[in-house]
Amino acid sequence: MKKQILEHCQRLRISEVRDVIPLEATSAILEVGTQEISVIGRLTNLRNGYRYYFLCPVCSKPFESLFKSDFGRWVCRVCSGAVYASCMRRGG
Ligand SMILES: [Zn+2]
Repeated sequence: MKKQILEHCQRLRISEVRDVIPLEATSAILEVGTQEISVIGRLTNLRNGYRYYFLCPVCSKPFESLFKSDFGRWVCRVCSGAVYASCMRRGG
């Protein structure tokens, strides 16, 4: 089975869509291409704001990044079946 390398996948970070999420929304639906992706907001530990996560459309778990699968669908890294490459940078 062919493994995808994540760096070669298209990646969608929550920070890139932060601007289109309504302020203090606890959930939102984003239209990314032809796909609707659910986003949830969780109050931070300090309760001074919300952190946002994509809900993977496959496993419904929250992730800060989604990856484009072979089928052109945005899914989490687990569901994409991709492996982390060693050049994944720290602190970025
Ligand atoms: Zn998933």
